[in-house]
Amino acid sequence: MRRPYPSSTMSAPITADRVIANLIAGRFTPAHGGAIISVYDPATGALIATAPDSTAHDIDAAVDAAATAFPAWSSLPPSARAKKLHALADLVERDIDEFARIESLDTGKPLALARSLDIPRAISNIRFFADAILVDDHETFLHGGATSVVHHRALGVAACISPWNLPLYLFTWKIAPALAAGCTVVGKPSEVTPLTAWMLAERSVEAGFPTGVINIVHGRGPLSGAALVSHPRVACITFTGGTATGELIARAAAPTFKRTALELGGKNPSIVFADAVTPSNLLATVEGVARAAFTNQGQVCHCGSRILVAREAWDAFVPALVEHTKKMRVGDPLDPSTQIGALVSGQHLLKVATAVDSAVRDGGRLLCGGARFDGALLPERVRSGAFYPPTLIEGLAPSARANQEEIFGPVATLIPFDDEAQAIAIANGTRFGLSASVWTSDDSCATRIANALDCGTVWINSWMVRDLRVPIGGMRSSGLGREGGREALRFFAEPVVVVQSKGK
Ligand code: NDP
Repeated sequence: MRRPYPSSTMSAPITADRVIANLIAGRFTPAHGGAIISVYDPATGALIATAPDSTAHDIDAAVDAAATAFPAWSSLPPSARAKKLHALADLVERDIDEFARIESLDTGKPLALARSLDIPRAISNIRFFADAILVDDHETFLHGGATSVVHHRALGVAACISPWNLPLYLFTWKIAPALAAGCTVVGKPSEVTPLTAWMLAERSVEAGFPTGVINIVHGRGPLSGAALVSHPRVACITFTGGTATGELIARAAAPTFKRTALELGGKNPSIVFADAVTPSNLLATVEGVARAAFTNQGQVCHCGSRILVAREAWDAFVPALVEHTKKMRVGDPLDPSTQIGALVSGQHLLKVATAVDSAVRDGGRLLCGGARFDGALLPERVRSGAFYPPTLIEGLAPSARANQEEIFGPVATLIPFDDEAQAIAIANGTRFGLSASVWTSDDSCATRIANALDCGTVWINSWMVRDLRVPIGGMRSSGLGREGGREALRFFAEPVVVVQSKGK
């Protein structure tokens, strides 16, 4: 028997009978017309839930609710908005194990990763912006007897569209600053991984957010997503996803001049210099580069999918990296020892496998991986899941497709370089510009490389070290605008200048 809409708390286990709902104007509702999307566990292939396949009708209702709620929400003192956000974070924290379990079930990622990274980070996102809004951001300038004060006024209804790779982590990274800044929200999570956004919707009601402040509409990008980004009453769009979708959204936003922040794809280099491949640091470099390549099955936009290696260090580094990669444990996401879980769907597995096959046809040589994971090596429960082994490919020119196009799976290429200038040219030689990591013990080399790379973040001897106060985002085809810290709060606000001149 199907569970009814709404379920006020998310304590029952998700089964194929679980029907999730939109949250619109404080009510949990199915899609107008009743269409649904099936949601699968990619590790087993089992149907685990259905989600509304929403239409423009649902988006209209959600935007109306958000627009109606906006004047009161934006007029609240920041401390009152912060209190609600902390109440929401408290509820996610209370249910952290359940959120982690469902995130792992929905995405195929290792439960241990969801428990240690995704959900704790979602909680930090909410708390960070709750606290950040308490810092008075008004600026005052004195000039020629006049005082100019810059106020930051919330924009209105924010459309928050997020992808499937880090579902709750990236969804909260958008809605938390929007709400903190005084905007009201219509969120559209990925249709592939809607479950934790739905759980968040339930917790937002429990936390007592006023009706209409948070609306979450599930559905397909080209239908409900497209209706949301072209809606005339939406003031701004924050989007994370693929570059092609980002372009569609930029076009849809243009006629009404909506403010847009686009966090898009990457083809990020990990640049390994010989002085990071000595007996004392080889292991740390190998582990760091492998983590950058394969975390979350390589489905992180910042993953280092091109590994550039100094030619003189090739023979020491590459075999060590291959050995390390071969030992990575692919398996049941629920097994605490699993390092590589399932890809997000069978469809995505096919896309990754096709890209690897093309790379081999283009002349690439497989050093490890490169074929669908042998099901016999997996526990019975997950034998038909979407598993792909971590894969390393050498022998491709920097201009080859596998070095230019995002694969977004556990696949990295190895490219030799002869000197700093060549490393920089190869690293910058794609249309993307999201991030990079540089592995060297020479600080001045690290600084020179960091200054020459065309990307938003450069990590030195590390990867994904994140301070929530710093701006994060990409250049060129990796996106437009920045998220994080003050940049995020400013994105959701219009600066309004009030100039007070001294009377005569
Ligand atoms: P997509 O671009 O396919 O989808 C992202 C979101 O946009 C989903 O919610 C999707 O809905 C929605 N969407 C799709 N089409 C439209 C449309 N026409 N109008 C409005 N919304 C739409 O990306 P993926 O979900 O496949 O995510 C993977 C991509 O995200 C990778 O390219 C990755 O690099 C990028 N990414 C970038 C990050 C960054 O910070 N730069 C971080 C994480 C990921 P639906 O799911 O229903 O199609």
